Amino acid sequence: MLLDNHGRIINYLRLAVTDRCNLRCHYCMPEHGLEWLSRSELLTYEEMLRLCGVLVRLGINKIRITGGEPFVRKDMMKFIAALSQLDGLQQINLTTNGVATAPLVPELKKLGIRSVNLSLDTLDRERFFQITRRDELPKVLDTMDALLRHDIKVKINAVVMDGQNTEDIIPLAKLTQNLPVDVRFIEEMPFNGGDHAAARPFWDHHRILDTLRSEWPDLEKIPDPPFSTSMNYRLPGHHGKVGIIAAWSRTFCGTCNRIRVTPQGVLKTCLYDHGVLNLRDLMREGLSDTELTDHLLFAFNHRHKNGWDAEEARRGIPVKESMATIGG
Ligand code: SAM
Repeated sequence: MLLDNHGRIINYLRLAVTDRCNLRCHYCMPEHGLEWLSRSELLTYEEMLRLCGVLVRLGINKIRITGGEPFVRKDMMKFIAALSQLDGLQQINLTTNGVATAPLVPELKKLGIRSVNLSLDTLDRERFFQITRRDELPKVLDTMDALLRHDIKVKINAVVMDGQNTEDIIPLAKLTQNLPVDVRFIEEMPFNGGDHAAARPFWDHHRILDTLRSEWPDLEKIPDPPFSTSMNYRLPGHHGKVGIIAAWSRTFCGTCNRIRVTPQGVLKTCLYDHGVLNLRDLMREGLSDTELTDHLLFAFNHRHKNGWDAEEARRGIPVKESMATIGG
C-alpha cells in the first residue's frame, strides 16, 4: 500500500492526456483557447504507459483519463486499449465533455470502462452555448444516452456559477429521478486559464445545498464512499445520487488519495500545487524505472497536508492555470 507523509493512501492517478479541448468553457479557458502544448512537449503514449506501469507497481489501482478533452487526441482508443492490459490496474475511468464521445461508447464498453464522468453544466441549449462557447448540447446528451444504453455508470459534473447556471441546479438534480445517473455540483475554482479573476465562489457548497433543500426539504444525507470528494445526498423517490464537491473550499483533503500527471508530464500531488516533479524530463534523461520510483516516492513523502498549504507554497505564483492543463 502506497502511503504519503500524512498517512493517506495514494491509489488513484488522474492522467491528463492533452491540454486541447473542443469546448471553450469560460470557467476553464479564454475564448481563443490556451497556448497549446507542442507535440514534443506532450508525453508520448509510450511515456504515459511506462509511467502508469511504474505507478501501478507502486500501488495505483485506478486511473482516470482526462484532459483537456481526451478524445481530441489522436489514437486515444488505442492508448486506452493498451492501458487496459496493464497488470494490477483495477479500474480505468474517463472524464469527457461528451462532444465526440457517443460513437466511441460501444468500444469503451468492450474495453471494460465502467464509469464515465460527463461534464454538463446546463440542460438549456442557449445557456450551454453561453457557457461553453459552442452549440454542442445535443451531442453531449447523445453521449449520456449511449452510456446509459451500454450500462456504463454516468456521473454528471456541473460547475455552479453565479448568474449563469444556478437555475439549472434543480433541473439537473431532477435527472436523478428517472435515470440511474449521479449528479455532482462543483464549486467554481480559480483554474480558468487566467481569463478572469476568480475569488471565493458565492455559490459555495452551503448555498448549493440550501438550494437543493429548498426544493426537497427531506433530502437525505447518505454515506460518502471512501475517498469521496463529494458530499452525497439522495432526493426522496429518486434513483441516482446528488453530490456536492467543495472544490474551492477543499473539505476533502484529509482523505485525498489522488495524484495528477499533466499532459507535459508534471506530477502534482495536490490540485493546488504548482507541480512537484517533471517526470517527462526525468524519463527523457534516461532514468531507469528504479530511479523514477525513487523520485516518485520522495514526492509522495513530501505531500502538502491540504490545498491551502499547497496554494501557500506556490510562492506568489497565482492559481490561474487552466483545468485543461491540470487534468480536471
Ligand atoms: N474535457 C473533459 C471534460 O470536460 O469533462 C475533461 C477535462 S475538464 C478540465 C474536467 C472537469 O474540470 C470538467 O468537469 C470541468 O467542468 C471542470 N472544470 C474546469 N474548470 C473548472 C473550474 N474553474 N472550476 C471547477 N471545475 C472546473
